[in-house]
Amino acid sequence: MNINDLVRRNIRDLKPYSSARDEFSGEATVFLDANENPSPSPFNRYPDPLQKKLKERIAELKGIAPEKIFLGNGSDEAIDLIIRAFCEPGAESILITEPTYGMYAVCADVNHVGVKRVSLTKDFQPDVDAVLSESRESVQVIFLCSPNNPTGNLLDRNAILRITQAFDGLVVVDEAYIDFATTESLTRSLNDNPNLVVLQTLSKAWGLAGLRLGMCFASTSIVNILNKIKYPYNISSLTQDHVLEALKHEQRKEAWVREILEERSTLTTALKGLPMVRHIYPSDANFVLVRVDNAPLVYRKLMEQGTIVRDRSKVTLCDNCLRITVGTPEENSILIRQRRELSTELTSTPTS
Ligand SMILES: *Cc1c(COP(=O)(O)O)cnc(C)c1O
Repeated sequence: MNINDLVRRNIRDLKPYSSARDEFSGEATVFLDANENPSPSPFNRYPDPLQKKLKERIAELKGIAPEKIFLGNGSDEAIDLIIRAFCEPGAESILITEPTYGMYAVCADVNHVGVKRVSLTKDFQPDVDAVLSESRESVQVIFLCSPNNPTGNLLDRNAILRITQAFDGLVVVDEAYIDFATTESLTRSLNDNPNLVVLQTLSKAWGLAGLRLGMCFASTSIVNILNKIKYPYNISSLTQDHVLEALKHEQRKEAWVREILEERSTLTTALKGLPMVRHIYPSDANFVLVRVDNAPLVYRKLMEQGTIVRDRSKVTLCDNCLRITVGTPEENSILIRQRRELSTELTSTPTS
């Protein structure tokens, strides 16, 4: 597949903005090229537009060449840029498998790009034939989320690869929660699949949501297209420096993940004991999807007590479901206590 045939023509022909720091490479001591303020301040200089140091470190950590890495202001930036680069507004579409992360459809809507929706199966897996037949016309990009938000489960790897191999557009696999899962990342399959794009983020397991750093792994031609259309200085120097430092502490991230997984199982056991809980879906992520008797009511009651969970009951296949993030042991026991009180309250007051 030739990526240049897939990209929108205006993007393919675009002459990108060339920043001062793009045009200079090498060592210099006097910087009079970017109209910066020369007074000493920690932030008076523009950041590296292509985040070279950071990419080298991420390349080492992930075992992926730096030129196959695009960094965005959160993975949300990568989602938006992929849609903008590959889908012609008013004509072309993306395909999503529902229920899933809401940003794919929102970014498509903002860009006036169509959204085709295919429901996941009852066990929240992609229906490969339905996805492929729905994507025959106008679909340029298929978004798959694994582990999926809000259901929490990994999508079947073979199903993802079958879709990727049969589809002649891009397949984006969003692995925001991969650090909590026991399987390998699909980045291992990038070399065999030139149309595969894998997204990861530092917002979840790494605990850096406030810094906004999303990682996109893909073929060099895809990465080059995203670099061409991004804002020149999309990652602040504060973020670049702080992330470089944080990435030195991989064991700390791994310890957090272990704690969260332990806490997830404690939380699951405690939830199972509550009468209002109908079903707890198995999770490969840092949250659980829970089916209860009356989700909007439980949601409201918890909120009155200061605890917010996510009400997903309006979402495809998620009737009466709440999505609950695994918090600290203290937060989780507050949640369980409130739920227990609520169960008692609901069973003792007759409903009309
Ligand atoms: C949280 C989340 C993201 C957002 O990641 P950022 O890097 O913070 O933008 C992306 N995808 C999914 C599925 C998420 O749940």
